Amino acid sequence: MEKRFIYADNAATTAVSKRVLDAMLPYMTEQFGNPSSIYKLGRDAEKSITEARDRIAKCFGCSASEIYFTSGGSEADNWAIRSAALRLGEKGKKHIITTNFEHHAVLHTCQFLEKQGFEVTYLPVDEKGLITAEQVKDAIREDTAIVTVMYANNEIGTILPIKEIGAVCKEKGVLFHTDAVQAIGHVDIDVKDQNIDLMSCSGHKIHAQKGIGFLYIRKGIPMTNLIFGGAQERGRRAGTENVPAIMGLAEAVEAACENIPEKAARLSKMRDRLIDGITKIPCSRLNGDREKRLAGNVNISFLGVEGESLLLLLDANGICASSGSACTSGSLDPSHVLLALGLPHEVAHGSMRLSLSEETTEEDIDYILETVPKVIDRIRSMSPLWEDITKGKENIQKAMKFVSPLK
Ligand SMILES: *Cc1c(COP(=O)(O)O)cnc(C)c1O
Repeated sequence: MEKRFIYADNAATTAVSKRVLDAMLPYMTEQFGNPSSIYKLGRDAEKSITEARDRIAKCFGCSASEIYFTSGGSEADNWAIRSAALRLGEKGKKHIITTNFEHHAVLHTCQFLEKQGFEVTYLPVDEKGLITAEQVKDAIREDTAIVTVMYANNEIGTILPIKEIGAVCKEKGVLFHTDAVQAIGHVDIDVKDQNIDLMSCSGHKIHAQKGIGFLYIRKGIPMTNLIFGGAQERGRRAGTENVPAIMGLAEAVEAACENIPEKAARLSKMRDRLIDGITKIPCSRLNGDREKRLAGNVNISFLGVEGESLLLLLDANGICASSGSACTSGSLDPSHVLLALGLPHEVAHGSMRLSLSEETTEEDIDYILETVPKVIDRIRSMSPLWEDITKGKENIQKAMKFVSPLK
């Protein structure tokens, strides 16, 4: 098969779509006004971002005044959690509940707050990468300030029972934040129906540009200012609005929320073809739940394979994929998400994530299905660990329990 170029890392970032770019361009040229200016050019910009806020709010069943633009998902996560901690910590609520497989924007914020005297409960996910509302309920205490649980995991694609967790938090009168960065465009989200108080979103995961996102803040929730200065974002986050990015974000959110069931059906067919094909490789395993899974997510581990080599060889074959996202920080530690599933290091190390988008084609899937087994064979042929495996050595018995049989 001829070499192709296939972008299968849409959970890392996505290409800006034509539709989004077209929505942005006028705001980079003629309509460049500052929304705070009082002449018409400024007022028009203000009007545009107000409309953008409204269009976004409609997609999630909230009102425009509850949408706060941020620089992306990380900022929204930091703001939501730190603000709740600061406001409620003053009242003696110094306990936070989260999971052990959140994005680092959440985990590192929690770790920072631990140093400030907060206590954090990290709920352990099960071997499929799920938690239950029961677990959350049991962890809630008198002094719990906030529960923060991601909607869908960025590495293994599991979708968590957000509505049920929201209901538990509502019943107990505890704030509920969800990092919905990966879920948007893949599942229908209604913040009121799902009892979500705070929700983070990022533009660049849904075909908008990088550096824009929003935090939904339910009306009435006391928030601290994130950036002091002008009166933008109702005085809570100062700085002249990034008008082109905001206009692109509104377009991207609308596009993402159109025809979700149809898009998910098409994507999950391709995803399943990949999973079924790739897990035929001996000593492999699918990470994450098979059913409660994002339509475009494939995450598979291979024993006797080093993730880094796998990515480099895939790249040499024109395929952009990712492994445990920890490698991006230059560390060789396996991903905290895969370790949270209970995988031994040898298995967690040899992992590959493929994340599809609406642009992925059946031909792309054919090519990946043809390329991956060849690449795995090549890496294994050079691996001392693989030699131990084929010889049935003692040192790999534990790891073997986590993967499919050798033959
Ligand atoms: C990408 C991502 C983020 C970070 O968003 P940025 O806009 O890149 O800051 C946060 N949470 C999850 C689950 C993500 O996938």
